[in-house]
Amino acid sequence: MYKIPKEEEIRKAIYKAMKKHNSFPSLKKLRESIIEELHKMDRNYTISSKRARILTARSGFVKVNVKNTEGDKKFSKCPVCEGKLKEIKNLSLTGKEIIIGYRCTLCDYKGNVNEFPVRYSFHFTK
Ligand SMILES: [Zn+2]
Repeated sequence: MYKIPKEEEIRKAIYKAMKKHNSFPSLKKLRESIIEELHKMDRNYTISSKRARILTARSGFVKVNVKNTEGDKKFSKCPVCEGKLKEIKNLSLTGKEIIIGYRCTLCDYKGNVNEFPVRYSFHFTK
């Protein structure tokens, strides 16, 4: 039976995993290591990739590098941490304001209008 750890416990597990490995080349590897740390607290703990990604991006001690790909996927929240996105605007040749991309106010994600992330890597910043 699976159990869902508290946010505080996940943060602790993320910190331990980052401290041990310093960086992770993929979300899959990061998640595996977080689960390994969580299992030291409770053997039934598990975490989804999505929750691992969001809490890591919001932790304040991890820099997330994102590889974007082109596509017309639309999102209203940050695709990395679900934080608020700020529009990056530019002026067109005719002086009209156009949105060229988005920046996250929480984790610093940046992407162009027609891009979305396909790969993440994680780096300890402490
Ligand atoms: Zn974000």
